[in-house]
Amino acid sequence: MASARRDPLPGTVYLVGAGPGDPELLTLRAVRLLRAAEVVLFDSLIPERALEYLPAGALRIFVGKRRGRHAKTQDEIAALMIAHARAGRIVLRLKGGDPTIFGRLGEEIEALARAGIPFEIVPGVTAASACAAWAGIPLTHREHSRMVVLSTGHGKQGEPELDWDSLCRPGRTLVFYMGGHRLAHLCQRLITHGLPETTPAVLLAGVGFRQPRLVAGTLADLAARVREAQVEGPALVIVGAVAGLAEQAPGGQRRNGP
Ligand code: SAH
Repeated sequence: MASARRDPLPGTVYLVGAGPGDPELLTLRAVRLLRAAEVVLFDSLIPERALEYLPAGALRIFVGKRRGRHAKTQDEIAALMIAHARAGRIVLRLKGGDPTIFGRLGEEIEALARAGIPFEIVPGVTAASACAAWAGIPLTHREHSRMVVLSTGHGKQGEPELDWDSLCRPGRTLVFYMGGHRLAHLCQRLITHGLPETTPAVLLAGVGFRQPRLVAGTLADLAARVREAQVEGPALVIVGAVAGLAEQAPGGQRRNGP
């Protein structure tokens, strides 16, 4: 399996998904690249233990968000990746979850391509998959849902521009990333555009990290329940009939972290 062709190459940038927090959900490819990396640029939501695979001498650069502020701008991140790759190093750009989903991958590969830097994208387990698995929610279901929509719950100035009427058609599972902040608003929008108030909805926070949380409700009451539960950490929201199946999961197993 370990063909020379796949050996990490100097002067290349690897944009790697680190999964949702649980280090056991790193891919073998991610671990192999971590072990070979000379420079790693990493975000906030990666599993801390992922960095333990790095060689002792690897340069670690935090480029994520801390207390709401970005440590580095996108331009600075691109410039760092390009400079280290041009110096002939093996560069890892480590992102939470899957790099192709709400990970600003587009901007970064555009900059690399423009600079003529070779790169490889390595998929990871996205938060939607990890949260659904932990909560015992099948994202698709032959009776309830034939379609899954991964949407942002947060726009540049607060509410995202979304096609609400299309989102609210029956038979869909909606997953909102970054949806925690404006939850009440989000649920209200979905009701206004045609989803019944009784539609099951759950919020999942910090899945894969030390204290994962699940708050279950309906579009009518989820926001109030989340306020009451004082949930912290990165959270996503799953809406649709399948969200009602969370309660079927064996509770003990579901509530345990990694
Ligand atoms: N590329 C990432 C998503 C980045 S956007 C991925 O594929 O998962 C960041 C959003 O992802 C957070 O606001 C939250 O909605 C969700 N998220 C990331 N990690 C999470 C976790 N461990 N538990 C719950 N939601 C998470």
